[in-house]
Amino acid sequence: MRILVIEDERKVASFIKRGLEEERYIVELAADGQMGIDMALANHFDAIVLDVMLPKKDGFAVLGELRAARNTTPILMLTARAGMEDRVTGLDLGADDYLAKPFHFEELAARLRSILRRSSVEKSTKISVGDLILDTVAHVAYRWEKEIELTTKEYALLEYLIRNKGRIVSRSMITQHVWKHNFDTESNIIDVYIKRLRAKIEKPGTPRILNSIRGVGYRMKEPEPNDPQEDEMDE
Ligand code: CA
Repeated sequence: MRILVIEDERKVASFIKRGLEEERYIVELAADGQMGIDMALANHFDAIVLDVMLPKKDGFAVLGELRAARNTTPILMLTARAGMEDRVTGLDLGADDYLAKPFHFEELAARLRSILRRSSVEKSTKISVGDLILDTVAHVAYRWEKEIELTTKEYALLEYLIRNKGRIVSRSMITQHVWKHNFDTESNIIDVYIKRLRAKIEKPGTPRILNSIRGVGYRMKEPEPNDPQEDEMDE
């Protein structure tokens, strides 16, 4: 993981660099805003730590120019002032998170990990549960190494369930995210779709991955070898 740190205060810059290197990141430093823009556009970085108060161009100008150049590298801003304004401005301009100075290194490292995680989830085009794999660009699902034929709605429902893997999603969450409108939640349309989906993605004799949680909704979960099969699992 390569991180660009744009910070003019030498002490702060080397404190961040040292800490991140201990966590095995590769770190490069830029000492002013213009240098930061040039480096960010010329090289690939996995994330940028960007100070607001910088010579030549301040952090907001750097952020604005990078986003205008369609650079989507996740950015953690370091705001010096206690006021909310800087933070709001930064987030409006496309920063991914901010951290107010002074900060503890552990906090910076945690924020960085979190924006890196988020961006890798967004960038990845393949999502999966067990050996069920979804290509979210081609909108194709595979299981047991075979393509599964799905209608547009079935695909959308499956993608929503997998993106929320491990979480219980209610019928009304499904209606809002997959159907994009509210219909009567008493209607059994979702149950009908779930049933059809199950028939396509599960096989008798294999652990259930799409569970019904009685009275609440559904949950997609990684299959474990000792999981009971089919409806025995339903809570
Ligand atoms: Ca500074």
